[in-house]
Amino acid sequence: MKRILLLPGDGIGPEVTAQARRVLELVAQRHDIKLDLDEALIGGCSIDATGVPLTDEVVARAKEVDAVLLGAVGGPKWDGIAMHLKPEKGLLRIRKELGLFANLRPATVFEALIDASTLRPEVVKGIDLLVIRELTGGLYFGEPKGISSVNGVRRGVNTMVYDEHEIERITRVAFEAARGRRKKVTHVHKANVLDVCQLWVEVVNHLAKEYPDVELAHQLVDSCAMLLVKDPKQFDVIVTENMFGDILSDEAAMITGSLGMLPSASLGSDGMGLYEPVHGSAPDIAGQNKANPLAAILSVAMLFEHSFKELRAAAEINDAVKQVLSDGKRTADIILPGQKFTPIGCTAMGDAVLEKLKALS
Ligand code: NAD
Repeated sequence: MKRILLLPGDGIGPEVTAQARRVLELVAQRHDIKLDLDEALIGGCSIDATGVPLTDEVVARAKEVDAVLLGAVGGPKWDGIAMHLKPEKGLLRIRKELGLFANLRPATVFEALIDASTLRPEVVKGIDLLVIRELTGGLYFGEPKGISSVNGVRRGVNTMVYDEHEIERITRVAFEAARGRRKKVTHVHKANVLDVCQLWVEVVNHLAKEYPDVELAHQLVDSCAMLLVKDPKQFDVIVTENMFGDILSDEAAMITGSLGMLPSASLGSDGMGLYEPVHGSAPDIAGQNKANPLAAILSVAMLFEHSFKELRAAAEINDAVKQVLSDGKRTADIILPGQKFTPIGCTAMGDAVLEKLKALS
């Protein structure tokens, strides 16, 4: 029995999560996996119901399950609310409470959507890379930090700090992920300037001895940013510290050109995983059955892969999405100007993926 907590959230969150849930249930059934699904509030809807973006009770429930599937949070309704009560604080809290230290963001270019990229088709064709970002350390959390006054001059400070074990555990996630892919890890750093990055290089090199079957490269972050737009196909798994990963994962995502197609996973040390589409709550199209559910559905594929280790189930979902796109099915967000596709709704896109999955013998 696998227990999953669904946190649909706000805006299009509930719409895309509903389609993801249908896929989750069908694929679990096909693979004889018994599911215990539970649903709870996060973000603006939680503020409306309880006064806070995430209650202690929901945190406790999330800690009990095998995986969490999240939609999106936020919207203009809660824009004026105090900073510590904003919907996004619910998201930050759940990631922290679950100890999610590894953020996995695949960037895959689907053949049928190749024109959505702003890069030339021959550059993006076949891109299939995974950015693994350290999520709980580095510059965003290091001490000392803050703004102070030194001899009447204001000074701002943040500190990039990593302990050896933090580097080792995220690097291990990268090597393990690479084993299921093209067996190449690129460690991205700035060791020519930063001492903390020299420690990363040492720890990564040491761990690499346990993975002789995986090729390891080290790449400076500035040149990696350039190579991502020049020749992104050379990358398989990229592993890097928090801030570099924050920037590079968005750069890699934008190469694919379509926000509604990007899934993500955040993993913790005890096998806990939280899966969510990269996009936000899209208030401009919420409640209109226009949202693209494929990022949420692809997040379910990541859940099968990382939390259940069911690689075949994950591949089935990824293939079903590919087939649906090759059949010319498109939600409005993935139709480019001049293309003659008829847009379908969120539910119809969910139906199309389910149909492909049901057609498997
Ligand atoms: P957004 O991702 O919600 O939307 C950006 C644009 O992309 C919009 O035009 C939207 O319609 C479109 N879009 C996004 N996802 C789509 C989908 N699945 N299908 C079709 N179109 C899609 O980003 P935003 O507009 O900057 O933020 C809106 C709200 O979402 C804000 O309150 C923001 O704080 C929140 N947000 C939440 C998350 C999260 O929950 N992880 C992430 C980003 C933003």
